[in-house]
Amino acid sequence: MNSKEYMAREDKYGAHNYHPLPVVLEKGEGVFVWDVEGKKYFDFLAAYSAVNQGHCHPKIVKAMTDQAQKLALTSRAFYNNVLGEWEEYMSKLFGYDKMLPMNSGAEADETALKLARKWAYKVKGIPQNEAKIVVCEGNFHGRTITIISMSSDPDAFKDYGPYTPGFIQIPYNDLNALEETLQDSNVAAFLVEPIQAEAGVYVPEDGFIKNAYDICKKNNVLFIADEVQTGLGRTGKMLACDHENVKPDILILGKAISGGTMPVSCVMADDDIMLTIQPGEHGSTYGGNPVAGKVAMAALDVIIEEKLVENSEKLGKIFRNEMKSIKSEMIKSVRGKGLLNAVEITPVEGKAAWDVCLAMKENGLIAKPTHEHTIRFTPPLSITEEQLMDAIEIIKKTFNQLGI
Ligand code: PLP
Repeated sequence: MNSKEYMAREDKYGAHNYHPLPVVLEKGEGVFVWDVEGKKYFDFLAAYSAVNQGHCHPKIVKAMTDQAQKLALTSRAFYNNVLGEWEEYMSKLFGYDKMLPMNSGAEADETALKLARKWAYKVKGIPQNEAKIVVCEGNFHGRTITIISMSSDPDAFKDYGPYTPGFIQIPYNDLNALEETLQDSNVAAFLVEPIQAEAGVYVPEDGFIKNAYDICKKNNVLFIADEVQTGLGRTGKMLACDHENVKPDILILGKAISGGTMPVSCVMADDDIMLTIQPGEHGSTYGGNPVAGKVAMAALDVIIEEKLVENSEKLGKIFRNEMKSIKSEMIKSVRGKGLLNAVEITPVEGKAAWDVCLAMKENGLIAKPTHEHTIRFTPPLSITEEQLMDAIEIIKKTFNQLGI
C-alpha cells in the first residue's frame, strides 16, 4: 500500500476528529521518522512533546518490553512490586509527599480538579457544591466534558453542552484579574499552564507564575500547574515553573513521562491535599500499572542522564535566533522557551501556515500549525546541535522557495 491508500483507509473507517498533515509514518528513531515510501523527516512536533527523549529510545523500549513480559497489569485491586518504587522515585525527584498515577493528560487534569474540590470541602471549608476553580482564557487541558467546560475555544466546547459548572475564566497573564477573582472565598484553586502551548506557545511575562503563586498563597487558594506539555525539560528547565522557583501545590504531568511509548500521566501533591481522596473515591484500571512505572522511571532517567534539560535550554536559544534571522514577509514573530517554540505566520499571496508546513514536509521536516497562523516547532530534546542546524537549513530553504 502507498501513502495515498493508507490515508484513504483512515478517512473511510476512522472518525474525522483530526486533520493530519498528509504523511504516513511507519518508523521512528531519535529525531527522525520515516514514511511508508521510505522518505526520512525531522520530527519537529515530537507527538506534541510526548517524545522528548526521541523516538523508540532503547532504554525506554527495553524497560517496557522487559516488564511487559513479566507482569503488565494487576489493576489497583492488588499491590504490584513496581508502583511503590515509581511513587518513591517521583516523590524524591519532584519533592512531593505523594503521586497519583493515571494514563492520559486529561485524566490527570481531571484528577487535579477533583483533588482541588475535595480539598475545598474537607480542608478549606467551602460550603458543599460551591467550590470554584479559576482558569485562563486560551487554556488547553484536554478533551473531557468537564475540561472543555473550562475552555474558551469554540472548537473545543461548541455543541458539547450542557457544561460542568464551577469554573471562572480570567485572561491569561493578568495578575490584577487573578487578585480580584480570588477575593471570592469560594475559590479553591487556580489552574494554569506556565506557557500556553496549544493556544500557540504564549509565554507570560517574567514573574507571572511567581506572582500568581503568591496571590494564591495570600488567599488560601491552591496553585495547580498543568505541566503536561511544558514539563520534563521542554522549556529548558525540568519544569517550566522552575524558571521562577515555584513549587505548585498540585503538579500535573503526562506526555514525555513515558517518552512517547504509552499513555502515562500523574498528579503530585503533599499529604494535606492528596489524602483528601480515600479508597474507592477515584481511580483507573490501567493507572499505576507496572509497565507504566518502569517506562516512566526509564524515561525520566534518560532526561537526567542525557542532560536533555540543558540541551533544550541551549538549543532553544539558537533556534529562536536563527528563526529571527530569516528574511520573510510571512514571519510575523518568533516566541518560546527552551525547545518549545512557535513562529507566527502572516498569510501572504494566499499562502498560510498550513502551506509552509506542506512545503517543509516536501523538504524533509514535519511540523504542524496550532490554530491557523502559528507553527509550533518542538523537536525531541535529544536533538544535537548539528541536527538542529540541518533542520534550520530546511526551514530557511522552505521560506526561500516560497519566495515571500
Ligand atoms: N494539558 C496540556 C497542557 C496539554 O497540552 C494536553 C495535550 O496536549 C493535555 C493536558 C491533554 O493531554 P492528553 O491528550 O494526553 O489527554
